Amino acid sequence: MHPALVIGAGVVGLSTALYLQRSGVQVAILDPLGPAGGASFGNAGMLSPDTSTPIAMPGMLRKIPGWLRDPLGPLAVRPSYFPRALPWLLQWVKAGRIDRVLAVSDAMRVLHVQTMDCWRELLGDENYRDLIRPAGQVSVWEGDDSSPTEAIEQQIRDRHGITVQQLNADDLRQMFPGIARDITRGVFVPGNGYTVSPQRIVHTLADTFRAGGGTIIAERAMKLIPREGGGYLVMTNIANRVADTVVIAAGAWSAQLLKPLGVRVPLETERGYHAMLFSPSMRPAIPISSKSRAFFMTPMEDGVRVAGTVEIGGLDAPPNEQRAKVLVDHARRLFPGLQVGDVRYWMGFRPSTPDSLPILGPVAGRPGLYLAFGHGHYGMSGGPPSGRLLARLITGQTPGIDPVPYGAQRFS
Ligand SMILES: Cc1cc2nc3c(=O)[nH]c(=O)nc-3n(C[C@H](O)[C@H](O)[C@H](O)COP(=O)(O)OP(=O)(O)OC[C@H]3O[C@@H](n4cnc5c(N)ncnc54)[C@H](O)[C@@H]3O)c2cc1C
Repeated sequence: MHPALVIGAGVVGLSTALYLQRSGVQVAILDPLGPAGGASFGNAGMLSPDTSTPIAMPGMLRKIPGWLRDPLGPLAVRPSYFPRALPWLLQWVKAGRIDRVLAVSDAMRVLHVQTMDCWRELLGDENYRDLIRPAGQVSVWEGDDSSPTEAIEQQIRDRHGITVQQLNADDLRQMFPGIARDITRGVFVPGNGYTVSPQRIVHTLADTFRAGGGTIIAERAMKLIPREGGGYLVMTNIANRVADTVVIAAGAWSAQLLKPLGVRVPLETERGYHAMLFSPSMRPAIPISSKSRAFFMTPMEDGVRVAGTVEIGGLDAPPNEQRAKVLVDHARRLFPGLQVGDVRYWMGFRPSTPDSLPILGPVAGRPGLYLAFGHGHYGMSGGPPSGRLLARLITGQTPGIDPVPYGAQRFS
């Protein structure tokens, strides 16, 4: 028996590897960057059992011209990349029909509602308490008029019995002293939470995996070659590795590995940015997001992280650091007295499907090959439950949830 190989040491690969290990499978992980070298490093750290809203929403089509015109807007498409992204964008628009939005949100809810239990299972009580704050999240809007999207978000919450608290100007000022006077509307989601360090939480998964006998190998998978008699030869940048079971959890790079096998998946990257403020003059008590400007401010152990926005620009274009810098302006818009101090700018690649649901499960006609990617905006929430599902599917246990909504076949 060869060990199972998991390709990718982000939150998804590590969660899958740890659950497999705990089911008695010998596992190795391949990743040239080591744990948390991708999107799992720099995200906003939101853990959101009570959020199950897909990104594509009704009415997206008519917004595309504006996105193309404004390179610093909440959602930008690089004009040179637009033709390549078009097929995915069209599928995205299609996924924004209300019937599909509701079906997707049901499947998202099933996954996300397990997130805190899975994190606790993976980290253990002590690390969970150290790294996770189940303290809620707040979203705010600029202006008094509510958008059609807000109504759909409420419809989704009602559908899943999720309780939230509406906040007025006074509530907001009490929760967030120094917030701009014209921010007068918000929603508190008490069932959500956050991690104080996305990087450390993923490194803790890696340490736990190694302590259980797992290995993380600093190699890049270049090609998967099916072997006669079963299993795969994985050509890496420096070695050949053999495995009966391979899990592709390479985030936004996963589709590249599947192409030579004739497996096509609609995976695009929604590039996101953060500005990490290491010595800000204030910090919010809990995460606050601006729905109008599509960004989050999260109090973390090493400062305040201002993260978010979407740029459709592929895997190769260099970062547009102006998009990270504009996040600092957004933060000052929310808190006019904020002095930012030292800042780090960062860009990461969200692995995104058109319908915002990950692609999880076996590949038809390719025994031993499993997919675990496509978590888009929600990998810190959906990653651990996905790992549990994958491990159960691979080891023949009862999956616990219906895996069909996450299968790659939904796109064929
Ligand atoms: C700005 C921003 C904010 C976000 N905020 C949140 C949030 O608040 N909450 C939330 O839940 N989610 C958030 N996300 C999304 C979340 O970060 C991702 O969904 C999640 O990290 C994806 O995890 P992953 O393991 O699939 O991918 P990654 O973390 O990107 O890991 C993929 C790994 O695969 C490796 N790899 C790639 N190719 C190969 C290869 N050929 N061989 C071997 N290894 C390979 C890479 O080196 C990388 O380490 C945010 C994302 C961004 C960009």
